[in-house]
Amino acid sequence: MKFPIIDAHIHFDMYEKHERQQIIEDLLKEKIEAMISVSNNYTSAVENLRLNKTYPQIKPAAGYHPEQPLPSKKETADIVDLIFKEKDNFYAIGEVGLPYYLRKKGKVSNLKEYINMLETYIDLAKQLDKPIICHAVYEDANIVLDLLKKHSVEKAHFHWFKGSDHTLEQIRKAGYFISVTPDSCYEKEIQHIVSKFPLEYLMVETDGPWPFKGEFEKELTHPRMIHESIQIISNIKQLEPSDVYNRLLKNTKKFYQC
Ligand SMILES: [Zn+2]
Repeated sequence: MKFPIIDAHIHFDMYEKHERQQIIEDLLKEKIEAMISVSNNYTSAVENLRLNKTYPQIKPAAGYHPEQPLPSKKETADIVDLIFKEKDNFYAIGEVGLPYYLRKKGKVSNLKEYINMLETYIDLAKQLDKPIICHAVYEDANIVLDLLKKHSVEKAHFHWFKGSDHTLEQIRKAGYFISVTPDSCYEKEIQHIVSKFPLEYLMVETDGPWPFKGEFEKELTHPRMIHESIQIISNIKQLEPSDVYNRLLKNTKKFYQC
């Protein structure tokens, strides 16, 4: 039995036109109430805003994705201006964070500049009283946690969290949220995280169009995959799926006020 869901993190603007159309057509049938569509850069933020005008189920967030070269000063200024101008239409600041994977590839020589950029967005989230969506995994999550605490941020979402039990515990203590993707269906590491983290602070997402493996191999990433994630979460938590659906929907609606 399927109940309503919200995809708490998707890059809807990054799908091909016909793929977007397909997802939009499936919304009712797949009980997808809404999607939090995060932005990678300025152009992406403009596009997500535009999409929201046509499809109100797409809830846009604006930021600069950290897994890419640093933006020009002008681009950051443009993103900040856009967020101020459209503050009533953006649901959150994101996707922002630190470039974990880029750094592993040896492509980041100046982490401090990424931290400075992140602080700009943390400031903005505070000023505008918006939730912040963080790409911060493994050791980076600890740096980001310290920054969030330093700025007394109340609403932070560590999307597709990966990291140690200790870091997870710090996130929980701070009252921040995490979300899991469809890889919760086949990744032991993610299933462990689900087992450790309270359902009250959990959300579900796809990070689409990012592709998945296992049962989703070669499939277009679609928010309907979240129904599979919820079955797994219910098994791990030993709860009725209907209760898990209900809790996750409530969490996401409250967190994003959507
Ligand atoms: Zn993302």
